[in-house]
Amino acid sequence: MNALRSKKTLALVAAAVVAIPSAALAGDGHHDNTQAARQAIKGGQARNVILLIGDGMGDSEITIARNYQVGANGRLAMDKLPLTGAYTTYAVQKDDPSKPEYVTDSAASGSGWATGRKTYNGAISVTPDGKPQPTILELAKKAGYRTGDVTTAELQDATPAVLGSHVINRDCKGPDAMATCAVNDKVNGGAGSIAEQLVQTKPDLLLGGGKQYFDQTVKAGQYKGKTVTQQAQANGYHVVTDAAGLAAAKGDKPILGAFAKNNMDLEWVGPKPTRTGTTPAKCEVNTARTATQPHLVDMATKAIDVLDKQTKHSRQGFFLQIEGASIDKQDHAANPCGQIGETVAFDAAIKKVLEYQKRNPDTLVVVTADHGHTSQIVEEATLGYTATLITHDNANMTISYATAEITGSQQHTGTEVRIAAGGPQAANVLGVTNQTDLFFTMKRALGVR
Ligand SMILES: [Zn+2]
Repeated sequence: MNALRSKKTLALVAAAVVAIPSAALAGDGHHDNTQAARQAIKGGQARNVILLIGDGMGDSEITIARNYQVGANGRLAMDKLPLTGAYTTYAVQKDDPSKPEYVTDSAASGSGWATGRKTYNGAISVTPDGKPQPTILELAKKAGYRTGDVTTAELQDATPAVLGSHVINRDCKGPDAMATCAVNDKVNGGAGSIAEQLVQTKPDLLLGGGKQYFDQTVKAGQYKGKTVTQQAQANGYHVVTDAAGLAAAKGDKPILGAFAKNNMDLEWVGPKPTRTGTTPAKCEVNTARTATQPHLVDMATKAIDVLDKQTKHSRQGFFLQIEGASIDKQDHAANPCGQIGETVAFDAAIKKVLEYQKRNPDTLVVVTADHGHTSQIVEEATLGYTATLITHDNANMTISYATAEITGSQQHTGTEVRIAAGGPQAANVLGVTNQTDLFFTMKRALGVR
């Protein structure tokens, strides 16, 4: 074979192997969106506000889930909201609240979007000096709106807690866990633990995990000697503990759904990252998941159904918060498939919410995160721990966790995060805002003081 001939052959082989980039990976011949953007900007009041918090769901976590589930040029439901901005998430230092704490936890960030005030890491809707601040859920309820608080974590975990309780330390989840919150303890005349305060605030729906704290016994006051669950029942709550119970609940009474002792079970499992990386693999459904637990989309659908029915004939609609909580928890655990499965489950809930909004355009929908997190899409094994997954594109995606040992807890990051919205007042998420601005946007949408 002469040199020229072999060169030609090589070129042909190369052409056959190097496939032309598929049309699916190109842009979509991007249209002029000016008119659509103009139409998406609506002021005025909303009948309903639905807030969806992806815990620890920074841009990196969204991109990882998108690549895996629908491909690099696919779009998740959360990508389809018409208006998108970014917001800063920092907390403040407890000892000197004039200084920022660049990396927030879910408690300080939740207190920020729930009350409009910056506070310290660990605070649940109290100021740096421990004073309770009214929350968007409490203000909505007071103004006659129906309310709901839904999570895949314990209901006493930071994000659901900030909407209906006020304690100086996020660990004070039940009457037996008040060691770091003496001032809030019922035995000292306080409002009680997060579990007690949540049922006292009495949203129309409380759905999630954390049953063990509702099963603890109240130590003082009117309900002394009863469990928090019994206190809730005495206050009119219908208590359910599994998916069948939730489906059967009529919604003529407030519903307390506690579906797991702690956090609810994970949707997916997969390879554990190592120092040198892993063989490319796909995620799998978690077969050990408790079958009687509802999925996040089941809880979200039920919450919307109940709140919509309850407000059919009233002037005011509802405020509902839905949290995909274990995106964060599995990022801490350096578990890529765990993290992606929870993001995909959260996205399924967002899809339901957007379907509802389509029928009820006077609903403000906001999808955001409380803070950024560790996971990064990288080229190859890093100084940390990596695992490689085979995505929807049938391509390899390597994910790195490099902010802690594999046996420890990966760290939150201090980055700004995405905030996307549609409906009345959605334009207020545009540009770069502060997490605390979200409180005022929702407040304006609901027309509450
Ligand atoms: Zn976290």
